Amino acid sequence: MGSMELTESQCNGQASLLDAQLELYWNTFAVIKSMAFKSALDLRIADAVHHYGGAATLAEVASKVTLHPSKIPCLRRLMRVLTVSGVFAVAGGGGGDEPVYELTPASRLLVGSANLATIMSMILHPMLVVPFLGVGEWFRRELPDPCIFKQAHGQSLWELTDRDPAFDALINDGMVSDSRFIMDFVVREHGEVFRGIGSLVDVAGGLGAVAQVIAKAFPEVKCSVMDLGHVVAKAPGGTDVEYIAGDMFESVPPADAVLLKWVLHDWGDDECVKILKNCKKAIPRRDDGGKVIIIDIVVGAGPSDQKHREVQALFDMYIMLVNGIERDEQEWKKVFIEAGFSGYKIMPVLGFRSIIEVYP
Ligand code: SAH
Repeated sequence: MGSMELTESQCNGQASLLDAQLELYWNTFAVIKSMAFKSALDLRIADAVHHYGGAATLAEVASKVTLHPSKIPCLRRLMRVLTVSGVFAVAGGGGGDEPVYELTPASRLLVGSANLATIMSMILHPMLVVPFLGVGEWFRRELPDPCIFKQAHGQSLWELTDRDPAFDALINDGMVSDSRFIMDFVVREHGEVFRGIGSLVDVAGGLGAVAQVIAKAFPEVKCSVMDLGHVVAKAPGGTDVEYIAGDMFESVPPADAVLLKWVLHDWGDDECVKILKNCKKAIPRRDDGGKVIIIDIVVGAGPSDQKHREVQALFDMYIMLVNGIERDEQEWKKVFIEAGFSGYKIMPVLGFRSIIEVYP
């Protein structure tokens, strides 16, 4: 190898070439980052660290997760990925000290009650990950049918939840996990949304976690849940919540307020207009306090940092799985107007998601 002096512009050119190469690897390896996180969920590493009071050595983590002893060096390498990506933190590790892995605010949400491990495991389940390998092929076909999920599995997600109890449980339990987390926050920080309401129906409310949190925080609000028959059949007993089997495309049970959490983003505009028209029929006039409460993403609303913007854009791509859409304000407005509503208020108070009130 010889040597020579490079000009400054040659140096800059080569650095930017290598930066560009790095950018490609960084994007490509996003899937490895996800899979490392998935293995942390599968192995319940956060529970292991939590077991030791939130800080554990490699040997302690290894003693709590199910792995073959020959894989302990691999676990160390996995922990390096998980600390680089911020799921865990590491203390020590220099000067011959054994590293101590600590929970971060993110991995603290994977332990205890109201944890988000179940929803994250749902999103990372092969049934929902594998379809994305076919997105390139999907783009060559005319909309709408099949959606990305149906292209991979031969039936729609809702057809499969109806036929496959294990898959149904995966989806329902995932929703319960997200709902408990975000609704605890909503009733604690934004309870004004439910003040003055006598009755509320959570349309497509799954197993009813959302309605249960609201009923507990606001006992004066009579809460009910409407979902498909096979979901309602699995609803828990002994709650303050009434369960109603139905189809939101047919009708919505009457109440002062209708709640739609993570429902409209599953559907195209025409279907959303149908659902919202049925909601409008179910509630009183605006002057009498009727409203629809939506919890979903408003693309571009909320904090404007890179991570929020990226999660909103990625969620929009994710929900393409079922031909759903994450909408910006103009796209929401168009749907509300077409469904005959007179106004709306966006409250971008849930991180990457918002609460939207829509008035008849
Ligand atoms: N709102 C809940 C569940 C969201 S998942 C939550 O956020 O936790 C979407 C829900 O829509 C599922 O529970 C599914 O069973 C329900 N769903 C799908 N099609 C429906 C229909 N035609 N009528 C009523 N519910 C429906």
